[in-house]
Amino acid sequence: MVISETMYTDVVIVGSGMAGLYTAMSLDERLQCLIITKEGLDLSNSWLAQGGIAAAIAKDDHPEIHLEDTLVAGAGLCDADAVRALVDEGPEAIASLVSMQVPFDLREDGELQITREGGHTRDRIVHAGGDATGRETVKVLATLAVGRPNIHFFPHSFLVDILTNDGQACGVLVHDGSAFQAVLARAVVLCTGGIGQVYGHHTTNPSVSTGEGLAAALRAGAAVRDMEFIQFHPTALYTPHEANRAFLISEAVRGEGGVLKNAAGHRFMADQHPMAELAPRDIVARAIVREMQKDGKPCVFLDVTHHSYEFLATRFPTITGHCLRLGIDISRNMIPVCPVQHYLVGGLGTDLNAETTLPGLYACGEAASTGVHGANRLASNSMLECLVFGRRAARHIGGSTRLRPDRPSSLPVADGLYYHGPEPEEIRRRVAAIANRDAGVIRHTAGLVAGLGQIQSILGAMEHKNLPTKAHWEALGLATVAGEILQAALNRRESVGAHFRED
Ligand SMILES: Cc1cc2nc3c(=O)[nH]c(=O)nc-3n(C[C@H](O)[C@H](O)[C@H](O)COP(=O)(O)OP(=O)(O)OC[C@H]3O[C@@H](n4cnc5c(N)ncnc54)[C@H](O)[C@@H]3O)c2cc1C
Repeated sequence: MVISETMYTDVVIVGSGMAGLYTAMSLDERLQCLIITKEGLDLSNSWLAQGGIAAAIAKDDHPEIHLEDTLVAGAGLCDADAVRALVDEGPEAIASLVSMQVPFDLREDGELQITREGGHTRDRIVHAGGDATGRETVKVLATLAVGRPNIHFFPHSFLVDILTNDGQACGVLVHDGSAFQAVLARAVVLCTGGIGQVYGHHTTNPSVSTGEGLAAALRAGAAVRDMEFIQFHPTALYTPHEANRAFLISEAVRGEGGVLKNAAGHRFMADQHPMAELAPRDIVARAIVREMQKDGKPCVFLDVTHHSYEFLATRFPTITGHCLRLGIDISRNMIPVCPVQHYLVGGLGTDLNAETTLPGLYACGEAASTGVHGANRLASNSMLECLVFGRRAARHIGGSTRLRPDRPSSLPVADGLYYHGPEPEEIRRRVAAIANRDAGVIRHTAGLVAGLGQIQSILGAMEHKNLPTKAHWEALGLATVAGEILQAALNRRESVGAHFRED
């Protein structure tokens, strides 16, 4: 492996979603910061986020109630201190976005519109552009970050490995499409987002969500936790045609009174949970899978036809427009939906300052496991987590006296042998088949054991090899993450939150 150039900065952030951008904006402006990102700014989970951001800002709400709801969704496995930080600092985080001019939707009296989603007992979700909250927020953050003299961007650059020195992270190894570059820094912040592509197209996550950030951190010695907790969104649009991801029908549609019906037109959620369609996501997802299995159908239906087209087109312009392009007028037709992978609840374990178990390596956003979600994420708490813990990371880095190293003590090992094996596309296909079969909504011991064995043989052929292309590194990332999910799912014998074992 030949490194063509070594660069120096204070802070290197990997990822340009909400976590990466907000962390950068929260840094002391005297610190030089480089944001490395795989594609452009418009390809991330953040960009796609529809529903909104949760915070206790309504008059009848309080952080204590937000805390209670979050703990209930987390099924007893949340880190209470992390949740307290999230809910207490939530209103301030929203206020900071308002002050940055994020165009949140307003009521006629000029106050923020606040709505409710599954698992919340109060109206608590602010949104922008109707159902384009992530895109509208990222656009503002990106514009501000580009204007900051201390923030620099490295788009279309790919994190390959995390460099270490004396047991601490000291930079990253990046490939920009033509050559490897080392970037040395006082702190590395991993904001590489979700891992949905482990499940192939059965995910709401975009093509960049391949998990090699987590794989790189694991190789560098950081620890992941709670990887068995994969949140499946109950209502992705079902289409018989494959795309590289599934289109999300936001929970907010159920928040506005949408009801779920099976093939016979029966409203099944009302029989299953007091909160019916607004029950926690894992309960709704399992109920849908059981209806699909019972009826032998690939989907159930979401009925929102009690609303007018005008209301739906204003409240949910993205969803209404997308469905209409596929010939579904959601004010007249029921929407075919099925559960798909949506959110990685676990990730790189961090402390309250977002630092991982590898000193100098921070993780924020979906790549992190701060402990706020426990066994399951409460809707719209994830973008809030990006903001609250992004700022905490930035403050901690600002207060740190760690010096920038001159060089890494060792470069990542590739034993010199070139990888000879199935093409990356074939590996992706195999990993996705295993993940969907064995690490889906409902899991069994035999499947977990079999799936793990198959993943380990894929990894055996790839690990420590010289991988020729970005696609190979992504395939390795997918297989590594799939292995972590299967192993963690096998280790946790009881069903809890988003992890359900039928045996
Ligand atoms: C369809 C959809 C709807 C959602 N709706 C909501 C919602 O309403 N409310 C809510 O709170 N949450 C929602 N979520 C979840 C939320 O959007 C994410 O959890 C959150 O935005 C994650 O932000 P992030 O910055 O951690 O990661 P992302 O926004 O995914 O950003 C990851 C970044 O890392 C980069 N990257 C990845 N790997 C590499 C690499 N190897 N090298 C360089 N760069 C890399 C990517 O290019 C990208 O820029 C939704 C998610 C989806 C998919």
